[in-house]
Amino acid sequence: MTRSKSDFKILEHIQNTQNITREELEVLLTSEDSSLTEELYRRARETAVAHYGNKIYIRGLIEFTNYCKNNCYYCGIRCANKQAERYRLTMEQILSCCETGWNLGFRTFVLQGGEDPYFTDDRICEIVREIKKRYPECAVTLSIGEKSEESYQAYFDAGADRYLLRHETADEAHYRKLHPEQMSLFYRKNCLKILKKIGYQTGCGFMVGSPGQTVDTLFEDLMFIKELQPEMAGIGPFIPHKDTPFAEEPAGTVETTLRLLAIIRLIHPHILLPSTTALGTIDPKGREKGILAGANVVMPNLSPVNVRGKYTLYDNKICTGDEAAECKACMAARMSSIGYEVITARGDYIK
Ligand code: SF4
Repeated sequence: MTRSKSDFKILEHIQNTQNITREELEVLLTSEDSSLTEELYRRARETAVAHYGNKIYIRGLIEFTNYCKNNCYYCGIRCANKQAERYRLTMEQILSCCETGWNLGFRTFVLQGGEDPYFTDDRICEIVREIKKRYPECAVTLSIGEKSEESYQAYFDAGADRYLLRHETADEAHYRKLHPEQMSLFYRKNCLKILKKIGYQTGCGFMVGSPGQTVDTLFEDLMFIKELQPEMAGIGPFIPHKDTPFAEEPAGTVETTLRLLAIIRLIHPHILLPSTTALGTIDPKGREKGILAGANVVMPNLSPVNVRGKYTLYDNKICTGDEAAECKACMAARMSSIGYEVITARGDYIK
């Protein structure tokens, strides 16, 4: 049997068992056989279409603060970066983003920010309550980092539906390479478990190609996804930021990111999987390629244009100059060009 024939059996095995071995992962990540990767993408695409049709969910991203008390080595808005121009949106500005989004057909708002002590639990709950009061049909997703169980519960009780908290790596030694001492992988994983327990649609995720990442650490990431059973996963390439300790590190590749998106779709078929802005940043057709590798969500930016350039987790981020309406229209055209349709819906997880 040729190598390629047995490699195709790997896809069969992953799809049938919704699981993957470390050896299978290595083959899929290192194979130079384009017919194998095309078949991987095709199966992932078919799986996404079987569950969600050719519909792509859109989320309106509102980056409401770029202050952060943490100092993750890969992040452009880490507290030690004195070059970052800091901003916070007011309640009125956040609500104005939602109004624009609502009129454009967005039914999910993602409030994303650094871990900013100014935004106390009371303030976050007030924002969530006000958005839900004005737009009860919309889902609110929070992406504001590590909090206590009480805080997560308070946001949930205020009406938050979903929570995104990328775990970044499930491997302890790798986690230590990416984060300062004060941060803990155990605590982060526990936050995700608490979010699930409370009842959030929960998203974890990681960067592809982060410094120190290996097949072994990626295998642990996949096993963590199997264990946690998240409703969402954010997977995008690592892109260095010039004012961080990782400024000189190479970026992750489109190819590996696409392979991992496809693998995640096969081992966890119902997952909501964004084709990220970071993927669009390293490849002009990155977001389309992500969808064709099994992703089913895009997240255009609803933040005011005058702050977009300041929310730079990595260098050369795209779409920082376009109004929300342009972003939405651009995304709809991109999806339509590959046979998909962006739809106006909350886009909840389908079991
Ligand atoms: S990755 Fe998140 S927690 Fe870490 S410094 Fe950046 S915004 Fe803060």
